[in-house]
Amino acid sequence: MLRNKLDTEVQYLPGVGPKRAALLRSELEVATVGDLLHVYPFRYVDRSSIQRIADVRSENAYVQILGTVVSSEMPQGKGNKRLTVTVQDSSGAMELVFFKGIKYTYERLRPGGTFLFFGKPSIFNGRINMVHPEIDNPPSEGAVNYSGTLTGVYNSTDKLRNAGISARVMNKLMSEAIDLAIGDVRETLPEYILKEKGLVPLRYAIRNIHFPADETALAKAQYRLKWEELFLLQLSLLKQKYVRSRSEAGIPMPKVGEAFNICYKSLPYELTGAQKRVIKEIRFDLMSGHQMNRLLQGDVGSGKTMVAVLIALIAIGNGYQTCIMAPTEVLARQHYTNISKYLANTGVRCELLIGSVSKAARRPIHEGLQDGSVGIIIGTHALIEDEVKFKNLGLAIIDEQHRFGVEQRSKLWAKGSGGIPPHVLVMTATPIPRTLAMTFYGDLDVSVIDEMPPGRKPIQTMLVGENKRPALYNFIRKEIASGRQVFIVYPLIFESEKLDYLNLEAGYEEIVRRFPLPDYKVAIVHGQQTAEVKQFNMDAFASGRADILVSTTVIEVGVDVPNASVMVIESSERFGLAQLHQLRGRVGRGSEKSYCVLMHGDKVSRESRKRLELMCATENGFDLAEEDMKMRGPGDLEGTQQSGLPINLNIASLARDGQVLSDARSYAEHILAEDPTLTMEKNLPLAAELRKDKYGIKDYSQIS
Ligand code: ADP
Ligand code: MG
Repeated sequence: MLRNKLDTEVQYLPGVGPKRAALLRSELEVATVGDLLHVYPFRYVDRSSIQRIADVRSENAYVQILGTVVSSEMPQGKGNKRLTVTVQDSSGAMELVFFKGIKYTYERLRPGGTFLFFGKPSIFNGRINMVHPEIDNPPSEGAVNYSGTLTGVYNSTDKLRNAGISARVMNKLMSEAIDLAIGDVRETLPEYILKEKGLVPLRYAIRNIHFPADETALAKAQYRLKWEELFLLQLSLLKQKYVRSRSEAGIPMPKVGEAFNICYKSLPYELTGAQKRVIKEIRFDLMSGHQMNRLLQGDVGSGKTMVAVLIALIAIGNGYQTCIMAPTEVLARQHYTNISKYLANTGVRCELLIGSVSKAARRPIHEGLQDGSVGIIIGTHALIEDEVKFKNLGLAIIDEQHRFGVEQRSKLWAKGSGGIPPHVLVMTATPIPRTLAMTFYGDLDVSVIDEMPPGRKPIQTMLVGENKRPALYNFIRKEIASGRQVFIVYPLIFESEKLDYLNLEAGYEEIVRRFPLPDYKVAIVHGQQTAEVKQFNMDAFASGRADILVSTTVIEVGVDVPNASVMVIESSERFGLAQLHQLRGRVGRGSEKSYCVLMHGDKVSRESRKRLELMCATENGFDLAEEDMKMRGPGDLEGTQQSGLPINLNIASLARDGQVLSDARSYAEHILAEDPTLTMEKNLPLAAELRKDKYGIKDYSQIS
């Protein structure tokens, strides 16, 4: 049998060899010609056009000039290791700078010679130059067999460039790879899908993603490859979900029960329409006989806790226990306090289990869980420890999902009664853009509370520079004088960062100086304190004994102090929008008008300023999340790093390709509705694709 050319190792391509092959493997994870074909350009340049030197601006991305060498200066002395070459055309002159391959370049760029230079202009000492442009003889050497005028530019690394694998060489390699192996590229999508979705064949797509015939061909190639990538990802997620919901028995919970009714009747307010709808959706899951895996999204303050309590009471009404897991002790404690209030007349025993609960105090809780007398257990990670055993756990509620890995979630599943996993409700206050939710939580059903409880006052958000700090302090004094409390938050991006702690300490001392005893009391909370110290300070603020709480982002999640009316965020430019929004949500919970003050340094980049201005302009968490993702890319979104994408996307972007994603997802749903196991003849190619390693997403329900 003839070998598939795609499996040829890259070292056998002309001009590669073992050394460069090793680099391609370590730098780009490229081992074979097939791998190479899937390294796509990240941008395209029009190499057919040549700019006049006088027209080159430092803002231009890439330019090509045709210049004649006027002079070149070899480096003099030890320190100065740069070659400076001056070139000119009829419009003007420009300096080119080289730090590497100096000798070779000097030999090549003799005065009087004319060359094509291609590179990124930069500005140095007020003059435009180019550092390390690519050099070509005019007219183009023509070794690259592209017919169009758009040339792909590939991501490169210093190591690759030093080994001579320049952008130009990458183009040559691609051209060789395509000549050698394009005939062996097999179509991955069934013919009928190509037809129905109007997608170009894979061979066409690969050829044109590297060497576009023209703009239209490039657009078609890109669309096809993005669509396929997102489609297969969604198909694999949805298929897992489908298989699980069919095979995974769930505990049937047909009743509502007495405790639910008691609690419901004594609620101090009417549930919002969104809360009612979400409870209905969850009830439907609980009655279905299949395991529930649902994500509940709701902006800060939208009333998720109430939903959690009512759902827990349904589980109890059917004879099952509920555990509620929070990411921090502070939050677990607060949940415990709030939820206990709601349970007052229900007779349901609720306990708190966190790291700081002593061994002695744990024993009765453990016993209560095993004999079933504890109906609701609230806690942190401590809940997933092995010695925690339930009589009959029926429901696991996880608050602020993003702090928990999927693996931890799965540990809870194993605690279900009689081998049946508990129903799982994941609650998050981090509004996640739809495209991300579909992917990170592709295997979950999603409910959204998109309505705020009535009577909430808008929060006024302001951008304040250092020069206005005295005015800020006056404002804080006024708020405190009228009985309000104030949060001041410092960024602590890396827990280990010494500098951040220094900032926090300095900030705290400054605040204590400006707001001295006995008129003012200032509490401080950060991650390096012991649980007791943290709790003491939190309590001081929550109970109103302290007027100001200086803290790191430990207070980000969930903390409820309705009397706090001002949130000051120091160095706000260092936070992402999603996190700023979370912090802002700490105020505006009471009946008073509330403020969020975004302090920023003198040197704020234009992009940061744009983000902060957006914060001032909108209070809608979902809008902010969408914008944040567009501005910073999905990888940078708070909380999403830990969970990570199920697979690496090669060409599609969750930030930019939301439209494509939605389309691909609904098409995947449509296919699975007809053929859930992908066993129909026409879908066999899809089943084969999903068997590839990269879609081997772990089925966490099976891990114990
Ligand atoms: P979340 O957890 O979604 O951030 P909470 O559950 O903590 O929000 O609710 C925020 C505040 O709103 C709480 O003080 C809660 O008592 C109150 N609340 C919840 N639901 C309603 C409602 N339907 N009407 C009025 N207030 C509500
Ligand atoms: Mg909450």
